[in-house]
Amino acid sequence: MTLFLRFYITSGLLQVLPALMTADEDEVGDRITVRSDEELKAMLSYVMWVYAGECVFSLVFAHLQVNTRPNPANVWHISLTLCCVLFFSSLKKSSAELKRILTNGQINAQDIHYQEQLGHGNGGTVYKAYHVLSKRVLAVKVIPLDITVELQKQIMSELEILYKCDSPYIIRFFSAFFVENRISICTEFMDGGSLDVYKRIPEHVLGRIAVAVVKGLTYLWSLKILHRDVKPSNMLVNTRGQVKLCDFGVSTQLVNSIAKTYVGTNAYMAPERISGEQYGIHADVWSVGISFMELALGMFPYPQQLNVTCFLSELFCCSSQDPPVLPVGQFSEKFVHFITQCMRRQPKERPAPNNLMDHSFIMQYNDGNAEVVSMWVCRCLEERRAQQAQGRI
Ligand code: ATP
Ligand code: MG
Repeated sequence: MTLFLRFYITSGLLQVLPALMTADEDEVGDRITVRSDEELKAMLSYVMWVYAGECVFSLVFAHLQVNTRPNPANVWHISLTLCCVLFFSSLKKSSAELKRILTNGQINAQDIHYQEQLGHGNGGTVYKAYHVLSKRVLAVKVIPLDITVELQKQIMSELEILYKCDSPYIIRFFSAFFVENRISICTEFMDGGSLDVYKRIPEHVLGRIAVAVVKGLTYLWSLKILHRDVKPSNMLVNTRGQVKLCDFGVSTQLVNSIAKTYVGTNAYMAPERISGEQYGIHADVWSVGISFMELALGMFPYPQQLNVTCFLSELFCCSSQDPPVLPVGQFSEKFVHFITQCMRRQPKERPAPNNLMDHSFIMQYNDGNAEVVSMWVCRCLEERRAQQAQGRI
């Protein structure tokens, strides 16, 4: 059976009316086309999910008119579906349905309206984008990759694990798709951007950010995922005070394929990685240390060199110089100790996941106070806007 239905979603009123529509019409206002029972079910679940998520106490009234070829069984079936959804017995199920909508080939190039460019990294370009179907603002990372279809499939299957990632400290993954030789990775948009663009961050704010980063990493490690690219530009914040990690290396093929086209350095890498030894969780811990040192000082703790990796490998392998430490007078002892522990030259001497959570610096700021980060992000964004208006940046 093929149904063409039109949804009108007004404040609390959901109507489904029959209509034959073109794809272009879908992109206007609140109309969404569904073409089968399955899609209708998924869409209704999604609508309930959105309503339930945004206004828990609002009631959703629904009126359903289906006027297709006479087929009472279908009408009955759809009505029953609607009733079931209205009870929305399980938000989890709805969220799973949303994932199905977003991943079932329904996030594709046509459904995405690209807005501004958010940034450009070594691998690709990140855009702010609007997903018409789900009415969500997304961050879409587009990476050019000249690889075979086989490798594309392998990358897609390696990215599957991202659907299982469900943590408030990890950026939400929606979908990934290839168009010609480019992969687009669609994730949650964070309106505060990444931490690398913020200047010196005060310790009481940094403490709350560190708690989120440690929780995010602990979550990834519990899934046996090493982040492998912990650095300020992969720590994102929003005006709600949330802090989330992004760009962790779940797909070996993707990491390898990007590495082939990218000639550069990663100054946040642990000494054992720079010197080509085996590495594990402790390498991520080093990167946490050096990242937070940079965020506290407002500058990278090593002199800027053309070839940072060469410089660091010389420093770590050929000299007995100790890693840098934060100046005690300017920062609390707990914070200085936290950084020093994370940046121990010997990986085994760095804190393990449990010790990280139990560190006095982390415990001190593990108070769930998102307001502190939120107010700081909002203030910084406001200052940036004011500077832009004056033409200073
Ligand atoms: P690298 O390529 O070495 O990882 P990078 O992290 O700076 O460097 P990208 O990952 O391409 O590069 O990200 C570019 C910029 O896009 C980031 O610095 C950040 O400001 C922005 N960005 C990335 N993801 C998001 C997101 N989900 N929400 C908002 N801004 C984002
Ligand atoms: Mg990044």
